[in-house]
Amino acid sequence: MTRTIKPLVAGNWKMNGLKADLAIAAEVAKGHDATLRRAVDLAICPPATLLFTLTASLIGSRIATGGQDCSAHASGAYTGEVSAPMLVDAGATYAIVGHSERRTLHGESNAQVKAKAVAALAAGLTPIVCVGETKDEREAGKALAIVKKQLRGSAPDGASAASLVVAYEPVWAIGTGLTPTAADVAQMHEAIRAELGRILGKAVAAGVRLLYGGSVKPSNAAELMNVANVDGALVGGASLKAEDFLSIARAC
Ligand code: PGA
Repeated sequence: MTRTIKPLVAGNWKMNGLKADLAIAAEVAKGHDATLRRAVDLAICPPATLLFTLTASLIGSRIATGGQDCSAHASGAYTGEVSAPMLVDAGATYAIVGHSERRTLHGESNAQVKAKAVAALAAGLTPIVCVGETKDEREAGKALAIVKKQLRGSAPDGASAASLVVAYEPVWAIGTGLTPTAADVAQMHEAIRAELGRILGKAVAAGVRLLYGGSVKPSNAAELMNVANVDGALVGGASLKAEDFLSIARAC
């Protein structure tokens, strides 16, 4: 497939990673050779405690880093939160916002996700805005409608193509080993690009990277990454094994 958008493969370590796991990033950096660098951008989103050290350890590797969430506020009395300017200060390029685990476990609404995406943009980060339907919603035939509604509610206004990434992550595919068919992914990603066109304008939407996420692994990466309008992957479990993460990147 000829690509017009350089793909991004981002690893979401979730709540995994101690100092000893910096070795995973070092191994990824070793495998991120000149050929791979030309073909695909890589990012690692470690827990906040590792962000500064991990970013520093990757200087010269051209692997970017990101936070897994950010506050909608820049600073202040918000105990336990990490702001977008803090992520920038720690060296991050990206901030995942609206991951389904945040939406479900922390009750984040579309409006809250949008406020976080706006805060990320304002700080100079590229938000990775996550959307995706539940199993019940897919079975009820509502997947497209739900995802479009999430996008309308959570995509930040005023983003440029380079300053926004959208990740389609069906909730039922996250950490389960299940994945949608290539046809379902194609249909959803086409719908996402069209909806982004209505929100941000066609020219911007045409260049926004649309990642697929949910049980991406070396054995299914080639099929998923070759679907039209799939510009990379957001990888959870498999990003904790350097060789698996690299093999997914090579599949792009
Ligand atoms: P998974 O997680 O790859 O382990 O399914 C993806 C994600 O939650 O971003």
